Amino acid sequence: MTRITFYKGLKEIGGTFVAVETEKAVCMFDFGFSVSGRCDDRVRLRQESLVEDYVRIGMLPAADGIYAEKPAKNLGLKSYGQNTKEHFFFISHMHIDHMGGLGMLDDEVPVYMSEDSLRLYRRLCAMGDIQQRGHERCIGIPYGQTFKRGDIAVEVLRIDHDVIGASGARITTPDGTIVYTGDYRFHGFYPGASKEFGETCQGADVLITEGVSVSFGDVDMLSLTAPEEDIRTEEQLQQEMSQACRENDGLLIINPYNRNVERLHRLIGTFEAEGRALVMDPVQADYVAEFYPDDDIYVYEKTLNGRNVPEWFKVVTPEKLRENPGNYVLQLDYQDLYAILDLSDVISRYYHMDGAPLGSYEESYHKLTAFLEYLGVPYQYCGLGGHSRPYYLKLMVDTVKPGTLIPLHSFRPEQVNSDQIGQRILPEEGQTVVLERGECRLEA
Ligand SMILES: [Zn+2]
Ligand SMILES: [Zn+2]
Repeated sequence: MTRITFYKGLKEIGGTFVAVETEKAVCMFDFGFSVSGRCDDRVRLRQESLVEDYVRIGMLPAADGIYAEKPAKNLGLKSYGQNTKEHFFFISHMHIDHMGGLGMLDDEVPVYMSEDSLRLYRRLCAMGDIQQRGHERCIGIPYGQTFKRGDIAVEVLRIDHDVIGASGARITTPDGTIVYTGDYRFHGFYPGASKEFGETCQGADVLITEGVSVSFGDVDMLSLTAPEEDIRTEEQLQQEMSQACRENDGLLIINPYNRNVERLHRLIGTFEAEGRALVMDPVQADYVAEFYPDDDIYVYEKTLNGRNVPEWFKVVTPEKLRENPGNYVLQLDYQDLYAILDLSDVISRYYHMDGAPLGSYEESYHKLTAFLEYLGVPYQYCGLGGHSRPYYLKLMVDTVKPGTLIPLHSFRPEQVNSDQIGQRILPEEGQTVVLERGECRLEA
């Protein structure tokens, strides 16, 4: 018998935590923080009881077998060291809501992820772009390969999402196959990867899928027969940026999400073809250089923030930008917003493309737009996000045609549906679905 316990992240976007338990092993995924309205980063974190505090406020799951001895004892949980079965994690991708908690695990817990995710994770740790500390015992698996622990086999499969290294998994236990999509889209650089994921996983006993895009309005998924037309693709964004270079004489500012490394790499080429150099902050530059060492890397002197950069990076001064603003595009993280103050009279436009603050539901977003308006810098939104629109969610489910569909990672998972499935289960937090000989039932 395989037991699939849904701890967290069912009716919210973040903090998905599911445990697949067999006779010999426990495979868990993912390990980000729950989005919690109870937390305020203005309240000081208590380093000596970080794990306990996070668990007690519901940011991390109260689960046995994953925490170190002291926090586990304080929380009345079994520690990792007390396990009799093999406990391990699969992490689908490097978004905070899927991996932010890794540093809270016991040091010995094996954490598997795609090879590219691990490569990025190592850089996030090196750049201090993670919560607290990094987890050491991580294992990178190339796309398409399978690893085994106890009686569980996990095949790591590429899927398209707005972060490098994104993957889903096909988990095989003695009782059947469970597919976990992680987050995905069909409008990225590799729509074929998402399609292939669905085809590879066809006929799975269980499909656990994200449902972010049906979170915010009424959607009747069964009636969807054609793709939504208002989807900007990664390729389109590149074209829009070429166009922007031609239409503007001055400096362009972009605010992308820095873990979507491939977009930055592609933008470097796009801008280069238009006679402009992309100038980055040292963190963004580090991520691009890690994956694309042949790219010309320019960094901005005023956003170095005391960091040393490799000698082969070319440092660009504000004077250079002011002399020839039409020869450059500046990538600017929200944290470095005041860099605009030195340049506002030579800036043509600010392009917001999936960087923080993400949208109008964040307080900072209004501050950003008010700031730009005050300085007379035109703002343009040109983001595209990482989640499939509803038609494509349905396409994934229809392609896999699972015996049991379990949607989560959505404010309204009940809106994820398909007529190509055996049954659908909508578990509540803490509930377990039992898988036996390929058949699922909610445990009473
Ligand atoms: Zn994601
Ligand atoms: Zn997510």
